[in-house]
Amino acid sequence: INRIGVFTSGGDAPGMNAAIRAAVRTALYNGKKVTGIYHGYQGMIEDSMFDMTSRSVSSIIQKGGTVLKTARCLEFRTEEGRAKAYENIRKAGIDALVAIGGDGTFTGAEIFSREYDIPVVCIPGTIDNDLNGTDLTIGYDTANNTVIDAIDKIRDTAASHNRLFFIEVMGRDSGCIALNAGVAGGAEAILLPEKDTAIDELIEMLEHAADRNKSSMIVIVAEGDKNGGASNVAKRVNEKFDYYDTKVSILGHLQRGGSPSSADRVLATRMGYTAVNELLKGNNRVTIGIRGSNMVTTPLEEALSKKELKLNEDLVEIAKIMAF
Ligand code: ATP
Repeated sequence: INRIGVFTSGGDAPGMNAAIRAAVRTALYNGKKVTGIYHGYQGMIEDSMFDMTSRSVSSIIQKGGTVLKTARCLEFRTEEGRAKAYENIRKAGIDALVAIGGDGTFTGAEIFSREYDIPVVCIPGTIDNDLNGTDLTIGYDTANNTVIDAIDKIRDTAASHNRLFFIEVMGRDSGCIALNAGVAGGAEAILLPEKDTAIDELIEMLEHAADRNKSSMIVIVAEGDKNGGASNVAKRVNEKFDYYDTKVSILGHLQRGGSPSSADRVLATRMGYTAVNELLKGNNRVTIGIRGSNMVTTPLEEALSKKELKLNEDLVEIAKIMAF
């Protein structure tokens, strides 16, 4: 390996910059050259790349988003698109890739690597914590902290007015942010995509809480909850339960932004470093992960085929008891 191409793809996540920085500096330390690829697979197809030095990644560890930009690229899903991408990769002299992103990014990397026999190592970057082969993804800790901050602020106004707040947080398939931030923010109830909480069951929980003279109540609703999001849940609860003044707050994209937490910066740095070392050891088509406190690798094929349930069942139970 002489030159490693680094890119971010799919949804952005805080900490991606720290992973880029670590991958670039580890490669340079080992005497390799590095090409930064803009906008993920789109940049390969459009030949949007540049030579990276140690200075290219100065002062980015604390920044949210990704300096390499990201994109969702339809053309890369076609053989013709990937052929164009390979042509530009070859022209740039890139002979190995570090891909930072989610499930879709891993799928594209796996297909491309097989098709053109180019080594690739992936790094899990997404706030959703919904990837296999790792306990934690880059961005998840920061997103949790952002949500807790929002819950704390909403709690102040909720308590002043005897309000019932429904806060919708990101997570189409994964309730990890909802559960963790819900527990840390002291939510009265948490609705998760992995669990089927009926509206009547929720109302019962809220009635119990109201009986205990709570001055405010906060229900965290994960985006992918089966009841159809916070606005729907609020409407249906309102029809039967009118003790509190009801409000809805959808946190949306602010959950993706912000300066990465210390935990995310360290995780991303370890993952970027490990990704390049795995490539240099000859490892291919794997994703980097953390298990306990150790860095591990999992074949992409395996990471993409099985569905690991990340939701901590103990924490689901604890959350209910804490709302008592
Ligand atoms: P997030 O989980 O944050 O949404 P992601 O990496 O899963 O991130 P996607 O948009 O699903 O985001 O995937 C990123 C890119 O990977 C796609 O825009 C596409 O270019 C490429 N990709 C996804 N699936 C495939 C596929 N089956 N074949 C080739 N390329 C793919």
